[in-house]
Amino acid sequence: VRKAVIAGNWKMNKTSAEAKELITAIAPLVKDAGCDVVACVPYVDIATAIEAAKGTNIKIGAENCHWAVSGAFTGEISAEMLKACGVEYVITGHSERRTYFGDTDVTVQKRTRAALDAGLTVIVCVGEYLEQREQGITDELVAMQTKIALGGVTEEELKRIIIAYEPVWAIGTGKTATAEQANEVCAVIRATVKSLYGEKAAEGITVQYGGSMNAGNAAELLAQPDVDGGLIGGASLKPNDFAAIVDAAT
Ligand code: 13P
Repeated sequence: VRKAVIAGNWKMNKTSAEAKELITAIAPLVKDAGCDVVACVPYVDIATAIEAAKGTNIKIGAENCHWAVSGAFTGEISAEMLKACGVEYVITGHSERRTYFGDTDVTVQKRTRAALDAGLTVIVCVGEYLEQREQGITDELVAMQTKIALGGVTEEELKRIIIAYEPVWAIGTGKTATAEQANEVCAVIRATVKSLYGEKAAEGITVQYGGSMNAGNAAELLAQPDVDGGLIGGASLKPNDFAAIVDAAT
């Protein structure tokens, strides 16, 4: 049976001093977690967060990475650099990257490739805009995003892939998908993985839900058979709320 993964995505929040405080506050609250606990933090917080997380069960991730190993890409950070810092996880394809910074299915595939090559575990985000849900194309779209992101990923590498279903209309809006909606699309993702890698791989892959998950709604979402964890934005900045979500996954 799949292990749940609860990952915080801090987005563009917290200075490194604040990162230390936040990790230090979260650590004792999640120490008995029965799921994996990850905090994906801004690049400049990584070193401090890793230091603060030492000796705890919190693993540190980044929020994005470039697809090249190194080179003339001003302002960018490679997966190799992250790995060298002690980072274990990285998010690719977050909808905010797709919406505001021009990420496409193709660049998400390239970033995912680079992250796997560097030895990281990748949280690949997929999800539809409200208009797409209203057009009834959610399942098709999410299946396609998943397929493209996984292009070239081997069955062995798939063990280091987590897919996060994040309906864009639910992110930061307080408007959560219903547990049924979340489960339905997470099941579509699992079926897509099955079509590409077979039943065993599909049963083994962790599929998270993200989008206004909080202490109040986490238990119901995480109780769904195809929802194996959460990618948490706002609530990951509040130690008690984040810990309550971790408890709900345990
Ligand atoms: P919120 O939990 O703030 O809605 O953000 C979800 C998200 O985008 C996590 O990656």
